Amino acid sequence: MFRFVARSAGGKHLLRRGYATESAPDRKVAVLGAAGGIGQPLALLMKLNPLVSRLALYDIANTPGVAADVCHVNTRSEVSGYLGQALEGCDVVVIPAGVPRKPGMTRDDLFNINAGIVKGLCAAIAKYCPNALVNMISNPVNSTVPIAAEVFKKAGTYDEKKLFGVTTLDVVRAKTFYAGKAKVNVADVNVPVVGGHAGITILPLFSHATPKANLPEDDIKALTKRTQDGGTEVVEAKAGKGSATLSMAYAGALFADACLKGLNGVPDVVECSFVQSTVTELPFFASKVRLGKNGVEEVLGLGPLSDYEKEGLEKLKPELKASIEKGINFANKS
Ligand code: NAD
Repeated sequence: MFRFVARSAGGKHLLRRGYATESAPDRKVAVLGAAGGIGQPLALLMKLNPLVSRLALYDIANTPGVAADVCHVNTRSEVSGYLGQALEGCDVVVIPAGVPRKPGMTRDDLFNINAGIVKGLCAAIAKYCPNALVNMISNPVNSTVPIAAEVFKKAGTYDEKKLFGVTTLDVVRAKTFYAGKAKVNVADVNVPVVGGHAGITILPLFSHATPKANLPEDDIKALTKRTQDGGTEVVEAKAGKGSATLSMAYAGALFADACLKGLNGVPDVVECSFVQSTVTELPFFASKVRLGKNGVEEVLGLGPLSDYEKEGLEKLKPELKASIEKGINFANKS
């Protein structure tokens, strides 16, 4: 086992007023799959986050190099690179471990490899940091989150408030595409995205988008389709060299930051996430979630939907239900 620890100097200037101070709580974040296409930029972004005091990087290969590289950045967090166990004392564990899509593959095609990886990592989380908030990035998220829940239930550590499927990239894409079409500053835009994280299960609610733009129905349909196919757009452009990594690292860092703010008691932190839910009849569903000191403080309802969104919601349910059941069956039979 290799363990690399380095404490960086400086970083005081990067503390954001109101969110972190020199006496900010000690917060440990682990990235599992830290040497991958998402893991490396995500490790850098978490190193830049002033709320993080300890950053543990884990991968089955190349962790020492990534840790040695990232630890030279001038922020306060101590970086540890492990090829072994990285989880003790973690507040937030982010999981981008696994294989990405190639052109022509759906997220579900990744199931056989990634399901096993996620299962093993979640067993280790249950053992070493059962109280951590788990941010699941590994696809298919619609199945890997239910797998994680089953692993935690078996271990007796399941807390539905602490398990999150990261769907932030769908929100990031919906915001960008909407801002372009509505000709508004993307920094001012908000668009909730609900449902799941694959194809038609991704349901952006453009009727709730702000600022209001009153776009015609055809534009809303095109924006919805582009948001649903955003991942495939990147997979095809990368032509066999993987899926979204940089925008995903950005989205993963945003969501982990929201979790840390919630843990630190910052009020009114709301993000969309795929969580255990009673918003629909499905046991897991992505919607707006209020984050707090225990993880999920409140799963928010959908609010009024347009007819097009209502139709999309009914269409996505059978596919999402099947993906959830596939995850549960895998976890229980293997
Ligand atoms: P990648 O192949 O570049 O990196 C994956 C990393 O995981 C590799 O470094 C690999 O060594 C590591 N790994 C494999 N098994 C491991 C294990 N048991 N423990 C620890 N690390 C392990 O892939 P990527 O492009 O970074 O994508 C990673 C995952 O994220 C894929 O499943 C991909 O589909 C998913 N993804 C999710 C979203 C989302 O919106 N949630 C978006 C893009 C990609």
